[in-house]
Amino acid sequence: MTLTNQYPEISIVVPVFNEEKNIPELYDRLTKSAQSISSEYELLFVNDGSKDNTLSVLKKYSEDVHVRYISFSRNFGHQIAVSAGLNYCIGKTVVIIDADLQDPPELIKDLYVKLKEGYDVVYAKRKTRQGESYMKKTTAKLFYRILSKITSINIPLDTGDFRIISRKVVEILNKMPEQHKFLRGQISWVGFKQTFIEYDRAERIAGETGYTYRKMIRFALDGITSFSNFPLKFATATGFLFSIVSFFIMLYTLYSRFITRDYQPGWASLMITILFIGGIQLIGIGIIGEYISRLSDNVRNRPLYIIDESNCKNKD
Ligand code: UDP
Ligand code: MG
Repeated sequence: MTLTNQYPEISIVVPVFNEEKNIPELYDRLTKSAQSISSEYELLFVNDGSKDNTLSVLKKYSEDVHVRYISFSRNFGHQIAVSAGLNYCIGKTVVIIDADLQDPPELIKDLYVKLKEGYDVVYAKRKTRQGESYMKKTTAKLFYRILSKITSINIPLDTGDFRIISRKVVEILNKMPEQHKFLRGQISWVGFKQTFIEYDRAERIAGETGYTYRKMIRFALDGITSFSNFPLKFATATGFLFSIVSFFIMLYTLYSRFITRDYQPGWASLMITILFIGGIQLIGIGIIGEYISRLSDNVRNRPLYIIDESNCKNKD
């Protein structure tokens, strides 16, 4: 982007975590794709604490004036990396895309054209997913089905974060203060005119997935707790149900003890009852704890991320 024009037509935000091998091809294909839209564009890479040479590769590419980068002090996670990209990008329209080329850069033009038909969000919906484990595909599918059942907002099925959004939506997202980002939920929540186009999702071309099962579980919990109080309601409902059942068992116990006087020293039943109720209470406390831990994170108000190095001059 030239300094004469402060606001490029399009920004492409790319979170990168250990992607040194993918960057050369990614850069070529993104550049071609962006140039087919406008000569005013920026590629904004967010290095999320990579352990390989991603940063030095990015620095090399930043000789191109269209390339900007932000480098975190450590790994903060994919959603935070994208959020930082949204904070720093300056384009009138913004694309979010993965660095591993599972999202084809050639599709950006189609997304852009669709957006210009008068939408604020156009996401890319996967028709197929290649090279991903059966486990990952089924857990993802199950998760989004459950999520759409228990939340009031409608998160489109079979989409990642690959999408184009207007500046208007970017500004709103930047004002949303939550610490536990679940961008695809937040983007759906803001409303406006949203649509999608379909594509076949490819295999990642090099490197390994940065989404371990641990990170996926965190991500799923963030999605549920940021958009639904269902777990809390569920805990309360089961609590009530079991209280009613225990009430009748208590009546029966008293009846056997004092009226029929037909009773055994009730060690077994006592233990079972105590364990059962105790278990239910623990589940309830656990669920409440999930929410409270997120509340306290938000109250703490720490910065979302820490930037170590960057060639972005627009902020700080
Ligand atoms: N990523 C990141 N931080 C992380 C994990 C991943 O910035 O902690 C980036 C990664 O470089 C890629 C994108 O997020 O550009 C999607 O990650 P990945 O391909 O590993 O996830 P998957 O496609 O397997 O769900
Ligand atoms: Mg991937």
